[in-house]
Amino acid sequence: MIQAKRLRLILGDQLNEHHSWFQKTQDNVTYVLMEVRQETDYVKHHIQKVASFFAAMRAFSDRLIERGHRVIYLRMDDPSNDQNFETNLKKLIRKEKFTHFEYLLPDEVRLDEELKEITGNLVIPHSVQDTEHFLTRRQDVNDFFADKKQFVMETFYRFMRKKHRILMDGKKPAGGKWSYDASNRRRYDNTVPIPDPIVFGNDVSKITEMIHNAKVKTYGEIQPEALIWPVNRSQAVTALNDFLINRLPYFGTYQDAMTRKSWSVFHSRLSFALNTKILHPMEVIQAAVDAWKKNSHVIGIQQTEGFVRQILGWREYMRGMYWALMPDFAKMNFFNHTQPLPRFYWDGRTKMTCMKAVIGQSLRYAYAHHIQRLMVTGNFALLAGVQPDEVDAWYLGIYVDAIQWVEITNTRGMSQYADGGIIATKPYVASANYIHSMSDYCEDCHYDHRARYGQRACPFNSLYWDFLNRHRHKLKKNPRVAMMYRTWDRKDGGEKKKILKQAETYKEKIDDL
Ligand SMILES: Cc1cc2nc3c(=O)[nH]c(=O)nc-3n(C[C@H](O)[C@H](O)[C@H](O)COP(=O)(O)OP(=O)(O)OC[C@H]3O[C@@H](n4cnc5c(N)ncnc54)[C@H](O)[C@@H]3O)c2cc1C
Ligand code: SF4
Repeated sequence: MIQAKRLRLILGDQLNEHHSWFQKTQDNVTYVLMEVRQETDYVKHHIQKVASFFAAMRAFSDRLIERGHRVIYLRMDDPSNDQNFETNLKKLIRKEKFTHFEYLLPDEVRLDEELKEITGNLVIPHSVQDTEHFLTRRQDVNDFFADKKQFVMETFYRFMRKKHRILMDGKKPAGGKWSYDASNRRRYDNTVPIPDPIVFGNDVSKITEMIHNAKVKTYGEIQPEALIWPVNRSQAVTALNDFLINRLPYFGTYQDAMTRKSWSVFHSRLSFALNTKILHPMEVIQAAVDAWKKNSHVIGIQQTEGFVRQILGWREYMRGMYWALMPDFAKMNFFNHTQPLPRFYWDGRTKMTCMKAVIGQSLRYAYAHHIQRLMVTGNFALLAGVQPDEVDAWYLGIYVDAIQWVEITNTRGMSQYADGGIIATKPYVASANYIHSMSDYCEDCHYDHRARYGQRACPFNSLYWDFLNRHRHKLKKNPRVAMMYRTWDRKDGGEKKKILKQAETYKEKIDDL
């Protein structure tokens, strides 16, 4: 019998070398990876994001070849590259006479639809397989919440803990509590030194040159001869081990802390390796749990649980919510916000120290940690009434880990409340009070974090009250916001007027703040 000649497509975020596809080499199977303009151009990306993806794809291709697989790698500057999946695939199938096409389920609706369309037009049969990456299938989160009133992450997370027997002591949670969130909110107080983030020195100068020559529109900074992100399995495992030893012991305690002393504090910075599938979420979770078991005198349960919750809980939940809510989700705009994104999001030039620090490090490293994304840049965009499409495009472009399934759920859902409360139970808005309590930013700022109006009043303060006042009719029934309205209502009329006037002044010259 003549064997089918198979072509298998690997997307840039499907770099899982433990996938069953790669467990044996077969002469009749060829893998293809492509650097295409359709992927560099659907949004304007940070240069480190594009370079990291291409470097990781090239390393993955080399790894497959080393293991004896047949691989076609189409570089962006290859003259035969038509810069989109459809034409490239059709050309390859014709030229190499493939008789069967296979692909792995993409994690984005955009590519899911495109691949369905492409395969519908192919003259050869095709098949689709799972990426074997997530701990749930696309529809599992939706099914889990089918008989429940609200999509509460906590209930799903407890279910996942029990199902996968993670941090369980029989039927009870290890340590007696499901969540240690309450003890994980400490400001950075200098009691423990923050180790320097682990960085790699990947030479991507040729890739960067190719991107520039092709005139791909990018922004942000890069050191082309020393890209900091892990782009292969061995680097990603090194980063994981470094996290377990140097950062996990304080991860939970300082999870929400922001400081000018460090751009990643005790965070793992594993999101790029996880989202490109170089690391499997269960191997990261198990490694953290094992580290805790072996060194429980150094790593407390609250640190480990805090970390496990992010991956076993939030990450899987967001992925499931994406498939439950898309594509309508991408159009939601609960507050009907229409403002453009302020200019300083693109260059970090603002007098607000917190925004300058977070945007500045995002441009420098293509990274900010969760609370910086949520409570500084996300918070400001929501208070300023920015159109959610613009907010999404910024988050999707700037971070090295940004892929739509996890970017849009966090941005449009959790941060901008544009879904009206499906993902988050309240809008994540805060005045300078919060930023001051969780960071050292306000200590050296042009603005006064205590002032609500007046020349040097912190913009977060008046914009916060203005936001609540503007959207009262939409939020008044939310019990989680009730306290904020009680505080507002207690203010006298004159005070309210001054605050709202200050907000108007700031909104009029928002680009100059
Ligand atoms: C507005 C906004 C946009 C975001 N965009 C992205 C994005 O594009 N890509 C992305 O991976 N994460 C995104 N996040 C979630 C989170 O901020 C990042 O996963 C995290 O900062 C990555 O850094 P880390 O690896 O050091 O995380 P750590 O703090 O060390 O956490 C460990 C891991 O947990 C997972 N995780 C943590 N929080 C979340 C979350 N809320 N949702 C899903 N997974 C989570 C990540 O895989 C992360 O690597 C966003 C959050 C906000 C508020
Ligand atoms: S005073 Fe206001 S603008 Fe300045 S750092 Fe603090 S919160 Fe940010």
